[in-house]
Amino acid sequence: MTVIDYLKRIYSGSAAEFTARAAEGMLAGKKQFVVTANPEILMRASKGDEEASRLLCLPETLVAPDGISVVKAMRRCGLPVQERVTGVDLAQGLLEAAGQNGRTVCLLGAREEVVATLAAKYRERYPAMTLRFHNGYDGDKDDLMAGFAAMKPDLVLVALGVPAQEKLIARHLDAFEKGTFVGVGGSFDVLSGLKRRAPEFFIRTNTEWLYRIVREPARFKRFYESNIKFLFAVRRAARESKKKS
Ligand code: UDP
Repeated sequence: MTVIDYLKRIYSGSAAEFTARAAEGMLAGKKQFVVTANPEILMRASKGDEEASRLLCLPETLVAPDGISVVKAMRRCGLPVQERVTGVDLAQGLLEAAGQNGRTVCLLGAREEVVATLAAKYRERYPAMTLRFHNGYDGDKDDLMAGFAAMKPDLVLVALGVPAQEKLIARHLDAFEKGTFVGVGGSFDVLSGLKRRAPEFFIRTNTEWLYRIVREPARFKRFYESNIKFLFAVRRAARESKKKS
């Protein structure tokens, strides 16, 4: 499959609609795997990483465009798309829906202080919700996922970074009867209140990536590797597919 084939699988509506649809599926007891596709995972899949490719194509998978480069890439290929869907907004929307309906939630990832603060916040806000959490640094993650499966959760958020979080979910999906699974990257840091999200201006102008690089310059190499190379790969693929048609 080319990068364009993966882009065609990505949701094209609004972010609010996507979150509402995922929340509806969760409350209806569906099993769904939400992949917020960023350039890194799309590049891995199109370069032959079988695990990345498989998880983007599973029957339970819903794919959302994570980041402005993915939105631009879709437009470049003539595909319909409205806007990006951020992991933070999606995680928050699903947590709220689970909380309001007294559902069972498992959180895995981030530093202990971060995930414990986030869990405490939601437990206080929604006492009827059942919430289990574990940080992303100690313990065997496969064992932790097996423990979560026994709880039959409605929502499992995994915050370990791309693609480790998606690969972990994909390995365990069959062990769960139902549930909504999402790899949410650095969202716990932001939702716990311990790390500030970019100011509104950067979010509104789709330049949140720039804010993150300026704050954490170590991100630049990763940004270059995934985003810049991705946009070149998409241009090449779009040119080739035009030639063929
Ligand atoms: N993380 C973790 N265990 C690890 C490595 C990372 O729990 O071994 C967490 C880290 O604390 C952070 C998240 O994974 O909360 C990754 O955040 P990042 O912003 O790098 O994710 P991205 O969305 O950029 O992939």
